[in-house]
Amino acid sequence: MSNLLNIRGIVLKETPFGEADKFITILGKDYGKISVSVRGAKRVRSGLTAGTSLFSYSDFYIAESKKRMYLNQVEPIETFYNLRNDLSALAYGSYFLEITNKLLFDNMPSNNILLLLLKSLTVLSKSNVIPHKLIASIFELKVLEYNGYKPETEFCISCKKPTTQNFYITIEGTICENCVQKNFFHIHLNETLLYTIRYIFSSELNKLYTFKVPANIMNSLSNFSRNLLNSQLNLRLKSINFIREIEEFL
Ligand SMILES: [Zn+2]
Repeated sequence: MSNLLNIRGIVLKETPFGEADKFITILGKDYGKISVSVRGAKRVRSGLTAGTSLFSYSDFYIAESKKRMYLNQVEPIETFYNLRNDLSALAYGSYFLEITNKLLFDNMPSNNILLLLLKSLTVLSKSNVIPHKLIASIFELKVLEYNGYKPETEFCISCKKPTTQNFYITIEGTICENCVQKNFFHIHLNETLLYTIRYIFSSELNKLYTFKVPANIMNSLSNFSRNLLNSQLNLRLKSINFIREIEEFL
């Protein structure tokens, strides 16, 4: 095994090719996003099935040849199998994988986004400790922050007056009654919504899955985080339609 590269990471995407082979896209700790060829993945005895399916967090042992990577051996750590027993959790989990895959460039280490993804999937796979919509909003806002974007929440983005609970929130940040342009996206703030948005941006990951918000605040927060993500990333996500269908039932 000495010549093999050991990469610990999570499978973001699977692309089958040929009769029994597939490519997997992994977000690896300290490596970022990489593509690995898995030969004979669908053969029963290949030993490469467990640990290479979507969501699997595994230790991958990889051989490099002519600048391509081939999976030699895999040891699953956590497969998040529970996600498959809950349609809503599966939809949100797929949404997080797709955002991560489309957002990141190859070979750029993104350990904070890897941790965010693992934490979000862990909370999702435990039955309804926290509403899925809230996990999604936290993911949407934190992934933007880790990607270098954070809206202003301390003062009006136009006149710089300190933010109060009577301000509005836009995709660029908080704005006062005098400066808000009502033909652009804006949501009226209140104390709880302002506090929640500030809390999500200022807190570390392990403190983020310990609170709940009232239903009306949840809808505003979700509206804000979704619009912010779309405005900053413009990713054209396939999984978003599934999410919208699920949310109609929530
Ligand atoms: Zn202003």
